[in-house]
Amino acid sequence: MLNESAYALGANRSCIRDLFEYGRQRAAVVGEENVFDYSLGNPSIPSPPEVNETVHAILQDTDSLLVHGYTSAVGDYATRKAISDDLNARYGALTAPEDFFIGCGAAPELVAVFRALAIPGGELLAIAPYFPEYKPFAEEAGLTFQVVPPDVPSFQIDLDAVKRMITPNTQAILINSPNNPSGVVYTRETLIALRRVITEKIMEYGHTIYLIADEPYRELAYGVEVPFIPHIYSDTIICYSYSKSLSLPGERIGYIYVPGDATESKRLYAAIAGAARAAGHVCAPSLWQKVIARCAHLRPDLKSYDRNRKALYEGLTAMGYEMAKPDGAFYLFIKAPGGDANYFSECAKEKDLLLVPGDGFGCPGYFRICYCVSYEMIQRSLPVFAALMEEFREEE
Ligand code: PLP
Repeated sequence: MLNESAYALGANRSCIRDLFEYGRQRAAVVGEENVFDYSLGNPSIPSPPEVNETVHAILQDTDSLLVHGYTSAVGDYATRKAISDDLNARYGALTAPEDFFIGCGAAPELVAVFRALAIPGGELLAIAPYFPEYKPFAEEAGLTFQVVPPDVPSFQIDLDAVKRMITPNTQAILINSPNNPSGVVYTRETLIALRRVITEKIMEYGHTIYLIADEPYRELAYGVEVPFIPHIYSDTIICYSYSKSLSLPGERIGYIYVPGDATESKRLYAAIAGAARAAGHVCAPSLWQKVIARCAHLRPDLKSYDRNRKALYEGLTAMGYEMAKPDGAFYLFIKAPGGDANYFSECAKEKDLLLVPGDGFGCPGYFRICYCVSYEMIQRSLPVFAALMEEFREEE
């Protein structure tokens, strides 16, 4: 006998992975330069050079037993202090090293936070469009996953819908900004208005509702503010990752931040640490903790993402494609000509243009493109986008 829901998850590969594998197969047949793969969010800029230099330095100057040994379950103090100091310097925040749990990237961090908040009947509200893995994470944790419909066309937050959907069982609201898949950054005004809605509901229901901010893309913003959300709403738990900000997705390193002035802060932190422990997710990779202790202040060089973003946004908009302004992350979320994103993506696939339909993100009718790709591939793909648009215009 097997756990059938676990089996179903493992047996059915994600549509994004399927597309990516398909792209590899097609490249072998038609040539790498004739496949336009916009499926997968693997960073395409190298880590800042200081990261590799620091790895070498640590291997030279630190006792090997320390480099490869177990760390404290919640993470090395030096790592937590470096992150705390960096946030305090950047945002004028008052974080303390004790507020941080060092995790293996945003995915297991979210799982730990969901489990910590999973009381019987507890509900999690996610804002569409959202990262598809949220649903299995929440459901496996024991929370009921509820989706707030997208606020089209801006892809900010539909606050009336949030107001309607908060119930006495709502444990937390999950937000992701800069957003995967829309590339939108929630504005300070949106976040303040969200706080107002949550606070009203807390008064009505008399219990805390946490905001969970999933922030792997915090450093990927192009000339707009990404507010430090605990300064707007103190009951915010941040799940951060270095996967995208320092281009380290394979190293599995990030942190959870529980503000010292959050409701029941100490108990909340202990519940998260306990949930991580029960999931076997403690002692994040020791070498990478030591790297972060020395590199927490580094930021990515966004020039090549920004060039890609502009080329696609300007090129596709001029052809008549519609999308929200992509101010962050490395995604564009585009309205499918003809309205059916699955059909549109199938037609694109016939031209070896690989686009991800929005259904899995809770937003049918749109498709995602991931622009952490080469600029040359973008240039080669633009005529294909133009030809598709023409075909769909003719069909109308
Ligand atoms: N959250 C979002 C919105 C993501 O896009 C991703 C990865 O693409 C994750 C979480 C998981 O990131 P990590 O590699 O830190 O586990």
